[in-house]
Amino acid sequence: MIGLKCRECGRTYPKEVVFVCEYCFGSVEVDYDYDAIRRVLTKDALERRPRSLWRYRELLPIEGEPTAGLSSGFTPFIRSERLARVLGVRELYLKDDSVSHPTLSFKDRVVAVAISRAQELKFDTIACASTGNLAHAVSAQAARAGLNRYLFIPADLESSKVVASLVYEPTLVAVEGTYDEVNRLCAEIGAKYPWAFVNINIRPYYAEGSKTYGYEIVEQMGWKAPQHVVVPAAGGSLITKISKALKELRLLGFIPEGVTQLYAAQASGCAPIVNTIQARSEIVKPVKPNTIAKSLAIGNPADGYYATQAVLESGGWAEAATDEEIISAMKLLAQTEGIFTETAGGVTVAVAQKLIQQGIIPRDESIVLCITGNGLKTQEPIMNRLGEAIRIKPSLASFESSLADRLSSASAI
Ligand SMILES: *Cc1c(COP(=O)(O)O)cnc(C)c1O
Ligand SMILES: [Zn+2]
Repeated sequence: MIGLKCRECGRTYPKEVVFVCEYCFGSVEVDYDYDAIRRVLTKDALERRPRSLWRYRELLPIEGEPTAGLSSGFTPFIRSERLARVLGVRELYLKDDSVSHPTLSFKDRVVAVAISRAQELKFDTIACASTGNLAHAVSAQAARAGLNRYLFIPADLESSKVVASLVYEPTLVAVEGTYDEVNRLCAEIGAKYPWAFVNINIRPYYAEGSKTYGYEIVEQMGWKAPQHVVVPAAGGSLITKISKALKELRLLGFIPEGVTQLYAAQASGCAPIVNTIQARSEIVKPVKPNTIAKSLAIGNPADGYYATQAVLESGGWAEAATDEEIISAMKLLAQTEGIFTETAGGVTVAVAQKLIQQGIIPRDESIVLCITGNGLKTQEPIMNRLGEAIRIKPSLASFESSLADRLSSASAI
């Protein structure tokens, strides 16, 4: 890491707590010395390292040893057979962060990097504005690091995400408002208290953690870039950083020049990035979220502009899914691949299905779906949409009478 650099005017800053450019108010990002990295980082060296996101540490914004998320990352990468058949495609993969350690979503990656860097910058308090998964990841990883933690969430969050965050005994603040209002409040609090808000004042470091999701896709495909990647978008950071990861791997010579088409997936009830891409516009118009996909419910996405640019320059596209389609897609993924993803994963699968049906994603090319969170954390929307357990007495007679219709077609020994 050389330092920080404005994404708009290119002005450089020291590697401290800077998140907006003083000259043009552009956002800043981490800049690296890729020539130096090319000399030390080879595929061979990398493959011998522990299977965590820190195996790409030269490409991550820390100076010393990582202190958080040592077991995060390197999640399963699965070749899909049954879902591929239903979608009618030849080569389909699932990158499965629904089983991320320790909090079952891809937010463990960004938080691992944010906390490691916050400790280097000598913060003793970690905070965040969250749609749910971030609060969970910050709560868990800050507890392990022995740091104070303040989490700010919209008051209407799913109860499983609230419980999952509270168990680590943080200060959890439920704000009566939307995520965008929570975020605005946190910016004010951050200006007054000396806390590391992972997705606000140390966002340039935090956001780099998402690149590891992209590196892993390429490494797990055998150092090959897929032709198409469908990515759920909230603030638009993950999709922007997958694009950066692919560019870096090309720059380092790990994969040949080429293009990977990126597709942004959002819920119809909150699709500011999809709207912008479909209009081929540069201006992201904020919306008021109304969707069961609460982890994606950001109406005014911080990286909406960059996400749009990343998608359009890749030749990709965007699509939205209704709440009904999200639930059907969650069930489809569970029933074909045995993966219970949260609503955000339902958005990804539903959008992929639509883009394939529309002929936008070709059926005979390699496709990766980003499954970023776990269904046990968003049970409310699906709970009453499933079958029920068949209740019986503990006797063979009760079993056979209660299941008579099913047993008539099964043969006994
Ligand atoms: C936060 C989140 C996303 C989207 O991340 P952004 O980087 O904000 O676009 C996707 N999936 C899940 C499960 C998330 O929690
Ligand atoms: Zn600038």
